[in-house]
Amino acid sequence: MNEFALIRQFFLRPAKRVMQGGGDDCALVLPRAGQVLAISTDMLLEGRHFFADVDPAALGFKALAVNLSDLAATCAEPLAFTLALALPEANERWLQPFSQGLFECAERFDCELIGGDTTRGPLAISITVFGEVPSGVAARRDAARAHDDIWISGELGGAALALAIETANRTADVPHRVRIASLVERLERPVPRVGLGLELRGLIHAMIDVSDGLLGDLRHITEASKWGATISESELPMPEQVRKLPLLQRRRAVLRGGDDYELCFTADRGQREAVIGAGARAGVAVTRIGEVTPLEGIRVLGIDNRPLDDATLAALSGFDHFG
Ligand SMILES: [Mg+2]
Repeated sequence: MNEFALIRQFFLRPAKRVMQGGGDDCALVLPRAGQVLAISTDMLLEGRHFFADVDPAALGFKALAVNLSDLAATCAEPLAFTLALALPEANERWLQPFSQGLFECAERFDCELIGGDTTRGPLAISITVFGEVPSGVAARRDAARAHDDIWISGELGGAALALAIETANRTADVPHRVRIASLVERLERPVPRVGLGLELRGLIHAMIDVSDGLLGDLRHITEASKWGATISESELPMPEQVRKLPLLQRRRAVLRGGDDYELCFTADRGQREAVIGAGARAGVAVTRIGEVTPLEGIRVLGIDNRPLDDATLAALSGFDHFG
């Protein structure tokens, strides 16, 4: 199968909202009046970002979902995306489910594929998404204010635990493979919080999506905003399986674990009811986990309400298989 046949069979769909889609030299996109374009790119590499034997349908879904998560973190509405795909071979048994998963995500979040490129090479997937957001409403990382509440959507740590289990399944001499479907779903098919991002327009100050772990991503907000933060360990929402982990592993999964694609945002205390209402309308739980402080740096209050010391926090970093 040549490149053009491959694109026609698996990736060409008629243009809807954009003026001209895939198949021409350029796609033409006309943003609505008063809206700015929000643009983000993510790249997924085999071996680094996903296992070689991962379900191609889940991979197609996730490749777009992680990009949509960045739109959500900007309060942007998905519009279109481009796909650059390097493939070792034109394997239809892989391409069919991959494109099916990709378009499942695209249709669910109403985001059109408008162009891209394919080439032969080690498996790599790069997607650029385009979204729309009214000028002046886009959420940023540098807009937190002192004494803002800090909120998180959904739950933390599930994807990290799933990754630890999947890694152990593949590397260690485990007697039998362990698979916890609900956790694997969080890792392999994360749901970008697009609806929540839209509901939070105008209610919040700063926002980021948690792709690299809560502490690291929250630090992007505090450093950009030039404030600090205090968060309470006892308030952090997590799946039951994570809650049952030994303390150190639990802390690693929830505070450092990546791939959750939840939204972390700050809002004025006076907006508490409005934020909870926004979560309810979007169908996702939102939890207040701390506050922005005039003091720089991030402090984590342990279960006993005392701050974790630097050595404890340092011990949380680094790759870990959770034993
Ligand atoms: Mg991001």
